[in-house]
Amino acid sequence: ATPTSIMVGTGRAAELGVLFRQGDALQSLHDVRTVALDKTGTLTEGRPELTDMIASDGFAQTEVLQSVAALEASSEHPIAQAIVRKARLEGLELPDVAEFQSITGYGISGRVNGKTVLVGADRLMTRESVALDTAKTTGDALGHEGKTPLYVAIDGQLAAVIAVSDPIKQGTPEAISALHELGLTVAMITGDNKGTADAIARRLGIDTVVAEVLPDGKVSAIEQLAQEAGPIAFVGDGINDAPALARADVGIAIGTGTDVAIEAADVVLMSGDLAGVVNAINVSQRTMTNIR
Ligand code: ADP
Ligand code: MG
Repeated sequence: ATPTSIMVGTGRAAELGVLFRQGDALQSLHDVRTVALDKTGTLTEGRPELTDMIASDGFAQTEVLQSVAALEASSEHPIAQAIVRKARLEGLELPDVAEFQSITGYGISGRVNGKTVLVGADRLMTRESVALDTAKTTGDALGHEGKTPLYVAIDGQLAAVIAVSDPIKQGTPEAISALHELGLTVAMITGDNKGTADAIARRLGIDTVVAEVLPDGKVSAIEQLAQEAGPIAFVGDGINDAPALARADVGIAIGTGTDVAIEAADVVLMSGDLAGVVNAINVSQRTMTNIR
């Protein structure tokens, strides 16, 4: 590509709110066959709401919510914010927490009111030898609706199943359709529950799902997708997306995301709207075909 055509291309992209931090990303993007996207905060708003709470027999719903929210008040995960918001809305006082621990990719634990409380994915319960019994069926059903099921254990007993739901961002369905029209394969990479991820992918017509990925597993997910389907672009917003953004043939960060993600990316979208991904690819294809 000539320096002039690259300059024209990056200029046109900038007018569309797409910043190419490196000119050669215009060329790499033209070769991309697969676009993989992070789920939370990229395909979805990243602002979940607590939608369901089913307490086990012998556990009072309000007390469980109070303990869980107390614990989540120390976590920065969007799930935590959803739960704390709900507890405040119900006017609950949050008791003190001791021995708070965040187990990345699994959930959180700590001591509240003299009891050990665990909140997180089913794999946290498995890891801590908490029996899920019928709660698993409840959680799977919630996952099937596209909600994220969370399990609560108090002193080793399954105390409740909670679900949070994160709305799909405006513009996401149109962007996925446009990527398909360009002949690209669309994939989703997420740390979330497999059932939840599958339900959302079905709704959006996403071709490939890689779910229950641990925070340091996104890079290997990218490498595997690239091996199966050729050059790959990855779109993400979070701190834990940074290594995958750097590893992908083209890393595309959402400008409203974290600084770490933006710094690791080749392309930055000024707005959160995924139409930016489509615009970036359109500009790269036009630039490259004018040259050839
Ligand atoms: P993602 O960003 O895709 O949600 P994470 O690795 O941050 O991926 O989280 C993976 C899973 O771990 C979540 O879907 C949830 O089940 C559990 N988890 C993480 N943090 C928390 C938390 N603060 N409270 C409850 N569950 C959590
Ligand atoms: Mg994210």
